[in-house]
Amino acid sequence: MSSVPVAVVTGSNKGIGFAIVQALCKQFQGDVYLTARDPGRGQEAVAKLQQEGLHAFFHQLDIDDLQSIRALRDFLKEKYGGVNVLVNNAGIAFKVHDTTPFAVQAEVTLKTNFFGTRNVCTELLPLVKPYGRVVNVSSMVSNMALKGCSQELQQKFRSDTITEDELVELMTKFVEDTKKSVHEKEGWPNTAYGVSKIGVTVLSRIQARMLNEKRKGDHILLNACCPGWVRTDMAGPKAPKSPEEGAETPVYLALLPSDADGPHGQFVSNKTVQTW
Ligand code: NAP
Repeated sequence: MSSVPVAVVTGSNKGIGFAIVQALCKQFQGDVYLTARDPGRGQEAVAKLQQEGLHAFFHQLDIDDLQSIRALRDFLKEKYGGVNVLVNNAGIAFKVHDTTPFAVQAEVTLKTNFFGTRNVCTELLPLVKPYGRVVNVSSMVSNMALKGCSQELQQKFRSDTITEDELVELMTKFVEDTKKSVHEKEGWPNTAYGVSKIGVTVLSRIQARMLNEKRKGDHILLNACCPGWVRTDMAGPKAPKSPEEGAETPVYLALLPSDADGPHGQFVSNKTVQTW
């Protein structure tokens, strides 16, 4: 088993994930894994880094596929005995003018952004080593979507006692409500992406609380963040930040020094803790 520290970034064949891997290759003292659902796109990205003189390893990972997540989990367990840095970056968004029915958009978006990210956490968080760092890439859109929720939902999402099961129930209810076209009546905002990212932010708050309760002595720091509005295939060419600039906050959180005792369980934007 290798004693070399290891970092893993999900959805990193392009966009912000690729820029996070690029930065980690330069700054992280250990092996860096670029992961992608499509091995061809993943290997191509690794080759691109190689041309820049950077070395990343590749492992396949489709966060929609539990078998794929478990294969990565088993690989990390066997080769490294765990993981030191996990960046949950993979995500999708329908374009604003996409005519796919809203209920379908809701189901597909939540499947990857919330349920896929949660499945990765369920399988990989137990493997995170002491002083490990976990970064869940959410979005400022989660804060805006939160403000668009009914008072009752806002209270639930801001609660310091909400459980992971309760959050899963709420995310499932959103998808079901969109199918019945009652989501607005039920207090949800009209944004599938926004609700999926509320899920990522609240999940991070819950996971940080669980780490405090169960693994306090391990000094693991786990946070959600917004990369900013970044020029990628998802956000388009008009966004003000380059992917490298978008990677700054996630990389800052991934590399918090071992003597840091925070941020933890926070939503961070521009390297600054935001109120939720
Ligand atoms: P992007 O360029 O579209 O890249 C998304 C990445 O996620 C791609 O590598 C994609 O792989 C991967 N992915 C999607 N579904 C996946 C799955 N099921 N399993 C594994 N990988 C999957 O988007 P981006 O702008 O870099 O976004 C990265 C993260 O930042 C997302 O979570 C996004 O919501 C968040 N974010 C972005 C912005 C922004 O302005 N760009 C702002 C706030 C938050 P494929 O190439 O195979 O599709």
